Amino acid sequence: MILKIATYPNKILETPCEEVGFPVPDAVRQLIKNMLETVRDANGIGLAAPQVNKNLRIIVVNLEYAGIPAFALINPKVAWSSKKTTEMEEGCLSIPGVFGMVERPEKITFSGQDINGKIITARCGGILSKVVQHEIDHTNGILILEKIKKYTQGKELLKK
Ligand SMILES: [Zn+2]
Repeated sequence: MILKIATYPNKILETPCEEVGFPVPDAVRQLIKNMLETVRDANGIGLAAPQVNKNLRIIVVNLEYAGIPAFALINPKVAWSSKKTTEMEEGCLSIPGVFGMVERPEKITFSGQDINGKIITARCGGILSKVVQHEIDHTNGILILEKIKKYTQGKELLKK
């Protein structure tokens, strides 16, 4: 099922999310399935639960075009980040039409849990590192609007 995406300035986007307990209820399994379907349908590279109006620490990453199978991460955290930072142009499905340059650590080690509660941890760089950081920010109620140094497109759309 394709879910409705919450858009800025919806307050849920700026509210820190709740941890998910295990075993997860069927509703959470279904939510993750729906989030994967929704991010693909929207041609997005990542999606966090608050963007579909669920105040839960769940993200999905959809970088299949880059050869990375789509995956979900529950209770995700950045466990380590490189001192070196790089800038990348970012957008957000919840802030349609707005893009800007965001500076973030180049590499991170992220950790989290899969649907069965198994710990997943990986060190990564490149686009995967940036997407995971962007989505983890969502679970903490942080939008790219707080981080954009220079808008590249759509700044005029932000008037509340
Ligand atoms: Zn976003």
